[in-house]
Amino acid sequence: CGICGSDIKKIFDDKVKKPIVLGHEVTGDVVEIGSGVKDFKVGDRVVITHHVPCFNCQYCRHENYSMCRQFKSTNIYPGGFSQYIRVPKENVSVGTLKIDEKVSYEEASFSEPLACCLYSLQKIKLLQKDFVVIIGLGTIGLLFYQLIRNKKAIPIGIDIDENRVDFAKKFGFDFALNPNKENVTEEILNITKGIGADLVILTIVNEKILNQSLSYIRDGGKILIFAGAINKEIVKININELYRREISIIGGYSSSPKHLSQALELISDKDINVKNLITHRFPLEEIEKTVELIVSRKAYKIIIEPWK
Ligand SMILES: [Zn+2]
Ligand SMILES: [Zn+2]
Repeated sequence: CGICGSDIKKIFDDKVKKPIVLGHEVTGDVVEIGSGVKDFKVGDRVVITHHVPCFNCQYCRHENYSMCRQFKSTNIYPGGFSQYIRVPKENVSVGTLKIDEKVSYEEASFSEPLACCLYSLQKIKLLQKDFVVIIGLGTIGLLFYQLIRNKKAIPIGIDIDENRVDFAKKFGFDFALNPNKENVTEEILNITKGIGADLVILTIVNEKILNQSLSYIRDGGKILIFAGAINKEIVKININELYRREISIIGGYSSSPKHLSQALELISDKDINVKNLITHRFPLEEIEKTVELIVSRKAYKIIIEPWK
């Protein structure tokens, strides 16, 4: 099971009741099946999504799958950071996928975060050679980078952590900028020949970042909010600018089984490289060590291995 930034946020969120077993980037073996299960057998290697939509309601009809009330109420038990989980029938029927033998468990565990990226990007009509600014060059930023590059659009990465900027360049970014070292607005306007970026993806959000993105987004551009605000702040934004410049702000939360299977396919076909994003592996007993690594942004993807 991979660790997601949201797992760490939940640890520090008073609204999340404790004790709790977190972990939602889950892969494993089927060890037992319920009486009505026909599509799986003991020994199957699978990836499982924790929330599944009904595909019938008003939200689902509009492909807002993660807003579906069934989506919000379904979950695996107790959570991915454990040796065994119980998978409810809704998740078995549409949220469980067999993993190809050439794909490792840890690679397949990226299906969940990658599915979230796919789900969000599907809300945006991206054209070839579009300029896409990605704020935050952690695991999610690097997954978005690959999806955007595969669509033949042009990613521009931004991070205030110089190590992350360096890593992004090694990873393949033609443009990776550090706002503490260069004038990001000027650079992006230069790169985009004065027009501005078509899409800005915020994997880190606060008032400054959101408002600064207005300085280098093109008229008619889109801002994708892919994370909750740091410190849950309420931000001020110039509504007239959004109106007159036709800027859209779009939220992208979680994913759907449809995107999970697309994601697993991209990983299986090696269209998306996830192996290089794994920097740490820990057994379950040492899970506490991961908090500091993620908070200090020293880690990219951390995999928890409950059987080690
Ligand atoms: Zn997650
Ligand atoms: Zn629904």
